[in-house]
Amino acid sequence: MSVRVGRLPIDDQSNGWSALLPPRRANAEVRGELDFDWVVVGAGYAGVAAARQLARLRPNATIALVEAGLVGENASGRNSGFAIDLPHAAGTSEEWTEQGRSAIRVGRFALNELDCLVKEHSIDCGWEKRGRYHVAVTENVAKRSLAAYEASLKVWQEPYRWVDRSELREALGTAYYAAAIHTPGTYLVNPASLIRGLADSLPRQVKLFENSPVIEADIRGQTPSVRTPHGRIRANALILTVNAFSQSFGVYRTRQIPILLFASLTPALSDEQLGQLGRESTWGLTPAHSVVGSTLRLTRERRLMIRQGFEYSPSLGTTDARRAKAREINLALLRRRFPQLGPIELEHFWAGWLAVSHNHAPAFGRVGPNSFAASCCNGSGIVRHTAAGTFIADLALGRDHSLMTDFLSQGTANYIPPRPLRDIGVGMALSYGVWTGRGER
Ligand SMILES: Cc1cc2nc3c(=O)[nH]c(=O)nc-3n(C[C@H](O)[C@H](O)[C@H](O)COP(=O)(O)OP(=O)(O)OC[C@H]3O[C@@H](n4cnc5c(N)ncnc54)[C@H](O)[C@@H]3O)c2cc1C
Repeated sequence: MSVRVGRLPIDDQSNGWSALLPPRRANAEVRGELDFDWVVVGAGYAGVAAARQLARLRPNATIALVEAGLVGENASGRNSGFAIDLPHAAGTSEEWTEQGRSAIRVGRFALNELDCLVKEHSIDCGWEKRGRYHVAVTENVAKRSLAAYEASLKVWQEPYRWVDRSELREALGTAYYAAAIHTPGTYLVNPASLIRGLADSLPRQVKLFENSPVIEADIRGQTPSVRTPHGRIRANALILTVNAFSQSFGVYRTRQIPILLFASLTPALSDEQLGQLGRESTWGLTPAHSVVGSTLRLTRERRLMIRQGFEYSPSLGTTDARRAKAREINLALLRRRFPQLGPIELEHFWAGWLAVSHNHAPAFGRVGPNSFAASCCNGSGIVRHTAAGTFIADLALGRDHSLMTDFLSQGTANYIPPRPLRDIGVGMALSYGVWTGRGER
């Protein structure tokens, strides 16, 4: 039975990362009645990885990859561009230590996959192993959260070093932070360029359709199908990789929470402004407090990027007033961190959606007799959803990947009560996060 797909992703053409690239030439739309062996819906990191893995393992199969808009214009191309090798969360229980090790093995597998693809296909996306500074604004959070993170890094035997306020000022040009832990394994990237490159280097048997929003889908029938405004694809099997938009397909509604994030890029800094920053020509920092804190970068295009704001977004929509407020906050926070640069401005501001689960586990598995879905990136989708896409293809082919046990070491996303109970619970949890993290803005 077909269901009408609810909220569709909208490209408001605000993505700052793709604005730095040449305009994209779109692939053809879905037109007419088409038959494929496989249809993959959503061409972000998960969908592209799933299509690639299907093609690797079934070189004679026909595979359709169907994207609502242009590749790179939704979350996969709108994120902050940190391809992170380590889990964010800290903990030292035996169970958490083991789950952390599993996550690291999965992360390294996916990072290696991305690294090989970037090199093999000469994807020009600024892919650079710079590591990341995990920062605390206040001494209190440095002592509590960063010290807890250090304890995890120690038991995982991962390299790291503490960086104090004066070294941060020297390296990055800001004295805003009390301290940081630097870990060396993170890659920084222009995410729009990376996902475009990954999609455009897929094997020939994968047919990528763009500007083809799926508006109706049969994922529960024996022969799955998807309808777009100008056509329909029937396939022997379907893989759904639309992350936050899974709920629009009636999938994982009680497993994941859609979250809205905001980000901005400044214009390119002048030589004089760059001279007022630190000695490092590119860098990235992530906040110890994930709800309130800001992610920041100095990019190879000499621009500062800030990502701040973490909002519950059950309708997968936002308003102009909310965007204007978030933009204002992005700008104020950037100026606060770099007062020496004078009244810097923003050239680009955008919003994007992702999905998180209550227990931080992926939403992953079979969702119909011949349909499968991977979702719930929990914020680190460049790496995690490159892995999730690969593994969901394996699952769909009935193949056991050697890292599947690691990937599912926390199980799958657990049950979350439906609205309005959920609205109350999530609202309270976020308000508490904002209150406890108020010094970290
Ligand atoms: C502002 C921001 C900053 C972030 N920073 C980072 C970071 O630094 N590092 C990191 O690892 N992660 C980051 N993330 C998260 C990361 O972007 C996601 O985890 C990742 O994009 C998930 O990949 P995906 O392929 O599962 O989903 P998506 O990237 O959301 O891709 C899903 C695709 O499905 C398409 N789609 C949806 N509905 C339909 C439909 N009806 N028909 C056809 N196609 C459809 C969408 O257009 C989209 O292209 C950030 C996210 C945001 C929004």
